[in-house]
Amino acid sequence: MQLSHRITHLTGGGSDGWEVFYRARQMKADGIPVTELTIGEHDIGTDPSILAAMNAAAVGGHTGYAMVPGIDTLRDTVAARVQAQSGVPTTRHNVLITPGGQSALFAAHNATCNAGDTALFIDPYYATYPGTIRGVGAVPVAVQAHADNAFQPRAADIAAVASKGAASLLVNSPNNPTGVVYSRETLEGIAEVCKTYDLWLISDEVYDTQVWEGEHISPRALPDMAERTLVVGSMSKSHAMTGSRCGWIVGPEEVIEHLINLATHTTYGVPGFIQDAADFALNAGDELEKEVAAPFERRRALARDLLANQNTVGLVPAQGAMYLMLDMRATGLSGEEFANMLLDTHKIAVMPGESFGQAAHGHIRVAMTIPDDQFLAALKTLCDMAAEISNKRAAE
Ligand code: PMP
Repeated sequence: MQLSHRITHLTGGGSDGWEVFYRARQMKADGIPVTELTIGEHDIGTDPSILAAMNAAAVGGHTGYAMVPGIDTLRDTVAARVQAQSGVPTTRHNVLITPGGQSALFAAHNATCNAGDTALFIDPYYATYPGTIRGVGAVPVAVQAHADNAFQPRAADIAAVASKGAASLLVNSPNNPTGVVYSRETLEGIAEVCKTYDLWLISDEVYDTQVWEGEHISPRALPDMAERTLVVGSMSKSHAMTGSRCGWIVGPEEVIEHLINLATHTTYGVPGFIQDAADFALNAGDELEKEVAAPFERRRALARDLLANQNTVGLVPAQGAMYLMLDMRATGLSGEEFANMLLDTHKIAVMPGESFGQAAHGHIRVAMTIPDDQFLAALKTLCDMAAEISNKRAAE
């Protein structure tokens, strides 16, 4: 039996730099203790107060089909939150509740790209981006953000590709994997390109509560951008609710109307008790968010102190999100080579920069998702190994 080309080619095939991750997982399964600094999963669970709200909603009977666009209370809460953050007038009619940000990314590309259209995204990128674009039959085309520009994308680079024709541009700030927060200048440049080349802007803002330096600016708030911007949000990172699968997409009313149609034919909504829990969490003030964000801010400070005392490993400005991007080029190794060696020698797993595209080659991404003392010890081992390799190289 034949499967569709769309599904069999979703991930593009070939080596994708994720071998280290799968190898680490296999080692763990085989009983070998591995320190994992790989994926964006918090080392704390969902707050008990949110779980209590979830339980009360389920026991109270909110277990049937929920409204497909999302329950009114949560849509109103998300609208009010987005309006307060961005200043852009937003109502429940601008909001669709989705099963996580991932589903919102898929919906956004479905709404904006025809089959065969070019959909742009920035490299380094979150792993699912190209597959999400292929999943709607569009063609993913990466625009590189360069290490020498601290991984802030340059508008001229995007324009050079957009001028050949594209339907959409996907950006992500605070950024996974680089930890960079896009500056106002960067976002204004991006907005101009979108207006000049008539692109939809899909703005992935799932890390918007985790900003350590600078400010989070939603490009939807820039002049004349609300009509062409779809914002992707999520409870996953802000409230340690990755497993609850609750996110949203915010955009023009007419887009949301069509996306409700799409949801009717795909997800049929998000469980009511999960939505009630999300509504509780978002209305609980910012204490819960601060509690979830605090360990990453703390570990970032620890990392900065440690890295300041050596000169082999470079730190890309860690302005937000739960990751550090480390420049390993002084070792002469690729990110993948270094990550493999670190796993084999010290049983520490990190993600090679190459698993996020081409722009972060020679880098590794470290997730700040283990307890402080273990995190610091792993980082120290990593730096010592890098220094050893680099010294040996200098002596040759
Ligand atoms: N966007 C980015 C940049 C992410 O890192 C993630 C998850 N790691 C997502 C979207 C999707 O998150 P979720 O579906 O859990 O909301």
